[in-house]
Amino acid sequence: MLAERDAVIGITGGEPTLFKHALLGMIETVLSERPDLRFHVLSNGQHFERGDIERLRAPHYRRVVWGIPLYADDADLHDRIVGKAGAFERLHDSFDHLLLAGARVELRTVLLANALDRLPYLARHVVVLLSHVEQWSLMGLENIGFARSRWAKLYVDLRTQFGPLGEALDIATLHGLPARLFNLPLCHVPSAFRHHAVASISDWKQRFAAGCASCRARSDCSGFFEWHPAHLLDEVEPL
Ligand code: SF4
Repeated sequence: MLAERDAVIGITGGEPTLFKHALLGMIETVLSERPDLRFHVLSNGQHFERGDIERLRAPHYRRVVWGIPLYADDADLHDRIVGKAGAFERLHDSFDHLLLAGARVELRTVLLANALDRLPYLARHVVVLLSHVEQWSLMGLENIGFARSRWAKLYVDLRTQFGPLGEALDIATLHGLPARLFNLPLCHVPSAFRHHAVASISDWKQRFAAGCASCRARSDCSGFFEWHPAHLLDEVEPL
């Protein structure tokens, strides 16, 4: 209730929908009192049920975006990545309920080496089965949490492996699905795809390489996370 006027309040986890009714009650209470506010909620999408549809149809929820990850079109691969058998099927049940509620969904896919080749297939899956999502966010891996111990296996060097991502972006564009790239240095993205990139890393956790000093694109560039492996920081090509 004390938020600045017109703020977007982000909620992350853990998993906020483990406390779904408390969460929805809080959102409804705040949005009733503060019609200027909006919410962005990160969720694994495992807990939406048919019984939620009517509630989520309420006008308040036009000011709520659900950020939900999907890693692959292949159920086994998605389940392995999130570490839960049956997660893919359960997620798609939730997508059905959210679609019927008219909910706003931002689909999120972290770029991982073990799912990179599936990206064009995932793009087709999204444009055919999940065309109601309002944005597809494709995100560079952050060297933090579970990714830190598996960095060498999961990190994708897009300077040499952009092909599947480029194909996925083309498929999304051809079908009118807004696709955005987050957390990626602009010089790691081929020029034809740079318009998809968002300067998304906040300045308090942003880091640039020494070579970035002479780059004309620096003000439009995400750069790197502060905790990006130091030996990879020199992999820049000033624009
Ligand atoms: S050289 Fe640095 S500032 Fe320029 S695009 Fe690459 S990472 Fe960004």
